[in-house]
Amino acid sequence: MSEAVRPGRVEEITSTSNPRIKSIKALALKKNRESEKLFLAEGMKLVTDALATGWAVRTLIHSKKLFDDEKLKSRVEKLATTVRARGGNVLITNDKILTSITRRDNAQMVVAVIEQNFVGADEIDCVQNNTWVALDRVRDPGNLGTIVRTADALGAKGVLLIGETTDPFALEAVRATMGSLFHTPIARMTEDAFLEFSATWKSSGGEIVGTHLQGAVDHREIDYSDKPQLILMGNEQKGLTEDLSKACTKLAYIAMDGAADSLNLAVATGIMLFEARRHALKPNSRNQ
Ligand code: SAM
Repeated sequence: MSEAVRPGRVEEITSTSNPRIKSIKALALKKNRESEKLFLAEGMKLVTDALATGWAVRTLIHSKKLFDDEKLKSRVEKLATTVRARGGNVLITNDKILTSITRRDNAQMVVAVIEQNFVGADEIDCVQNNTWVALDRVRDPGNLGTIVRTADALGAKGVLLIGETTDPFALEAVRATMGSLFHTPIARMTEDAFLEFSATWKSSGGEIVGTHLQGAVDHREIDYSDKPQLILMGNEQKGLTEDLSKACTKLAYIAMDGAADSLNLAVATGIMLFEARRHALKPNSRNQ
């Protein structure tokens, strides 16, 4: 029989120098997020999404001000009940503390500390109609968050991070996902591990379409519907490494007609994903 979860505690904190608040603020640094395997998400929507998709919320922090508005009060109380029932704690604080945690004025009145979650390579299924996005050394957290959001919106199965990348759990990246982080599996591996993985992907019948400014194929000419697709995008400054380019079954170029040298990475990924998922998107389909 599974052991019953002991409900979490509720505590009111008014000082920014409280040790609990200090350890939450420390999650602004990547090294602390990595050692603790935790991250922060702000706002009622993101916290609701995290709980609905089963992510482990360790602590819910909210402003006492929410109790002034009956509607908000009832929403935050529901969140707090779910968090506590799953063993997480609730901290009731003030706007000054929330601003110091999120490091921005007009901070959201709800913040959560959540356990990080990466999927393993074995979860990247080489199955017909599956599309994965792989990113080589993505640097910009805003780009990464936007790509996760776009991958989610277009029905990609997940995002694979290759090499040294920006942290998907940085506050700026989490913000940019607009909640899609909780619906989109994220895997990570070194370039060497990816090169090994890519051989298995190809021998299982999968395609790897790399995007490259010297790409030989127009991205609109590819049939993305006949094989599982891995869309590989290059680093913002340097593009794809030579080894990664060689691992691709096709190198695609996105046609341009102006003076710009290249497209922004997140925009290029959006264009590629839209084309790769076109066959799967029903006319006028909306996410209700
Ligand atoms: N200076 C970099 C280079 O030489 O590749 C530019 C990188 S670009 C800002 C970032 C990534 O977006 C590229 O590596 C590629 O994956 C994709 N990209 C941007 N514009 C593209 C285009 N017109 N065709 C194909 N890929 C493109």
